[in-house]
Amino acid sequence: MKQSTCSQCRRTFPLNDTIEAFGVIYCDPCARARFSKMSDIEIESANVVKRVDPTVCGRCRADFGDQELETIKGTPICESCAFALRRPFPLKLKIAAAVLAIVVVGTYVRNFRFIYGYIQYKSANRAIERGDFERAASAFESAAWNVPEDARFDQSAKLYRGVALYLQKRMKEAIPFLKAGLIAEAPENQPTLAAVIEICEMLDAFDNKDYDQYLKSALSLENIDRNDPLGAISVALALAAKFAQTGEERFKTEALERIARAQKLPPSNAMPKDQLEAFEDQIMYRIETREIISPKEFARRFPARRSRRDRSTEAQSPPAPIPNPDSRPDSKGH
Ligand SMILES: [Zn+2]
Ligand SMILES: [Zn+2]
Repeated sequence: MKQSTCSQCRRTFPLNDTIEAFGVIYCDPCARARFSKMSDIEIESANVVKRVDPTVCGRCRADFGDQELETIKGTPICESCAFALRRPFPLKLKIAAAVLAIVVVGTYVRNFRFIYGYIQYKSANRAIERGDFERAASAFESAAWNVPEDARFDQSAKLYRGVALYLQKRMKEAIPFLKAGLIAEAPENQPTLAAVIEICEMLDAFDNKDYDQYLKSALSLENIDRNDPLGAISVALALAAKFAQTGEERFKTEALERIARAQKLPPSNAMPKDQLEAFEDQIMYRIETREIISPKEFARRFPARRSRRDRSTEAQSPPAPIPNPDSRPDSKGH
C-alpha cells in the first residue's frame, strides 16, 4: 500500500483515502473542511481527481505492498480477481463484467460522494435562506443518498419535505415527515416545530370531521406554549365545534373561557390581534349557529367582519383586514 501526505494537515494517509484538488493532495477531513466553505463554482474549478493506489486491488481490496498491479479500465486488479473476471464462460463473463463495472463505479462514487454530499448540503442551506423548502428537501435527499453515514442529512431531508408539504396544506402527508425530522432542528426551534405538527394534526382531524381528535390536538398545541394566544384560540375553536356537534353547554362555557384567556395574553407572531379577532368571530359563529364551517368558507361568506361588537368599533378604526381565505390558526406568514 502506498501512503500519501496531506498538503493541509501534513498527516500521512493511505493513498486511496486522499484526493487531488487545486493540484494538491487533500485527506478526507481536510477536503471536507475546505469544500464546505466553497461555492459550487469554486468546487467545479477544483478539478477533483480521485487518487488510486496501484498496489491495492480495486476488487478484493488486497494489499500487494510495493507491487503495482495491472489495471482494468483504470482500476488495479490482482491476478486472482483478473482470472475471476476473465473466466471464459459467456454468462459468467457477463456477470463478471457487471461486477467490475460496479467496482469501478463504486470506487468513484465512494470517494466523490462526500464532495457531492457537501455540495448538496450547501445548496440546501441556500434554498432555506431563500425560503425554497421544496428545493432544500430535494438537496438534502440527495446529500443523504450520497452520505448515508451522516443521519443529519436524512433527518433534514424529512424535516424540509415536511415543511414543504405543510406550506402546500398537505397536512396529513406532512405529519410523518415533520415527526421524523423534528430531531434535525435546533433545540430552541423544536417547540415551534412541535406546534406545527400539532396544527397539522388539528387541521387533518378537522378535515375528517373528527372533532374529538381536533380538540385533543388543540389541547396539545396549547400545552406547548401557554403564553401564546394561538393555543387558547385553537382550543376555543375546537370546543365551539364540539358544542355545535353535541349541544353540551360545558363545551360552550369552556370555549368562552378560552376566548377570555386568549384576550388577556399578549398577541404573538402566530396570533396577531387581527387574526385573533377573526377567529373569535368564527368561534362565536359556531356557537350561535351550531354550524361548523372552515375558516375558508367563513371568509367566503363573510368578507367583512360579522360580529356586532366589531361593527360598532369599525367607525373609529379602519376596517380589519380580510383574513386570508385559507386562514387557519397556522396561516400567519404563509
Ligand atoms: Zn489533511
Ligand atoms: Zn483482487
